[in-house]
Amino acid sequence: MKPDLRNWLSEMDRQGIMKHISREVSPINELAAVGKKLEPEYGAFFEHVEGSTMPVVTGLMTSRDRMAMSLGMPYEELLSRFSKALAEPLPCKVLGAEEGPFAIKENILTGAQVDLGILPACLHHEKDSGRYLTAALCVVKDPDTGIRNVCIHRHEVKDRNHLGALLLPRHTNQIFSKAEAEGRPLEVALAIGVHPSLLLASQATTPLGVDEFEIAGALLGEPLELVKCETVDLEVPVESEIIIEGRFLPNVRENEGPFGEYPKTYGPKAPRHVIEVTAITYRNSAIYHTIIPATMEHLLLGGISREASIMQVIRQATPNVRKVHITPASGCRYHVVIQLDQKHEGEAKNAMFAAFTSSTEVKHVVVVDPDIDIYDMQDVEWAIANRVQAGRDVFIIRDAMGNKLDPSSRGGVSDKMGIDATIPMNDKKERFQKIHIHGYENLNLDDYLK
Ligand code: MN
Repeated sequence: MKPDLRNWLSEMDRQGIMKHISREVSPINELAAVGKKLEPEYGAFFEHVEGSTMPVVTGLMTSRDRMAMSLGMPYEELLSRFSKALAEPLPCKVLGAEEGPFAIKENILTGAQVDLGILPACLHHEKDSGRYLTAALCVVKDPDTGIRNVCIHRHEVKDRNHLGALLLPRHTNQIFSKAEAEGRPLEVALAIGVHPSLLLASQATTPLGVDEFEIAGALLGEPLELVKCETVDLEVPVESEIIIEGRFLPNVRENEGPFGEYPKTYGPKAPRHVIEVTAITYRNSAIYHTIIPATMEHLLLGGISREASIMQVIRQATPNVRKVHITPASGCRYHVVIQLDQKHEGEAKNAMFAAFTSSTEVKHVVVVDPDIDIYDMQDVEWAIANRVQAGRDVFIIRDAMGNKLDPSSRGGVSDKMGIDATIPMNDKKERFQKIHIHGYENLNLDDYLK
């Protein structure tokens, strides 16, 4: 399968899940407002955006099913395929110039031609400090090992050739710190307008030294094809719509933010990293992708990869875990629901401990039995209402590491709460059984409403 954004856009059209907007919209507030009104039912294709010749798409994968569909598999398969891809990455294929010409090289701007103003970068939320790139894969190489790292950061457009960046204390930051310690810049390439599988792979929870493009290849079942950049020693997906090349500047920080983030609050303004842009390349009729922060597209990208890794950790603690759901209302980060086929007294608590160790972001964990649909929060709340006695089933751990973006945390120090909503092992199961109407599932209402 060619991991091409345009293939997926055609599929969205075929399924009627993409709305085309031909009226001109402003990239300031208006585009985000329309896109957010349409999601999660529809994606949006803005054909005319004020100030740019490039159309804009958003809402490419607003449900688990759509994310899986973009990879040609049912959702149940996606988590296991993702785990397998983490375990067995597939090396990329770098295409030589003789294998071209490549669409991504149809337009090449370097030197004084570079102008980020050609991009329809959006202002999404009213208190954001400016226009942001939100769907750019950020590619760098570790100077020690030469191994690529791929991630998504937010990038503020500062002027025609400078971008701000928020590098949380993860891989890009670690790699940049190595270059900066020697007073050198770090080369970077940003890929915009890529297939959903690449965006998903970029969110994989892996140790430093794993190339997320190789995870994308494993997910797709064939090596991801890359081409060399023009002004930096990096490779980018050949099917990208737009590439921005540049370098993170050493010992330079400029104010960036505030910016509306996944918890649906604003991340504060602070001095942050700066990229100097050295080239922009793009396809003819390039399509620009923006992710509206805190929409399902944004939350699920992080959520699915987190579910795959949390599942691995819980499995080590208890093999009886069936499913894991990190809920969208918690930004797909803070609230974890675990479905457990409990075989031993206390097993639910062990599953919770494992969930807490899987990530500092996990804050509240609920464990339910296999008769609860963990994707239906009505059902999860029903279990909490009918199977929990707080004195017995709730425990709280004070002052652990949490997430700085949680406004209730004390600078990232956070309490953790576990709720065991499973039926107590020694209690009578029938007292907890759900009511059921015989024949309900197979009844066809049309037979009665003629
Ligand atoms: Mn990484």
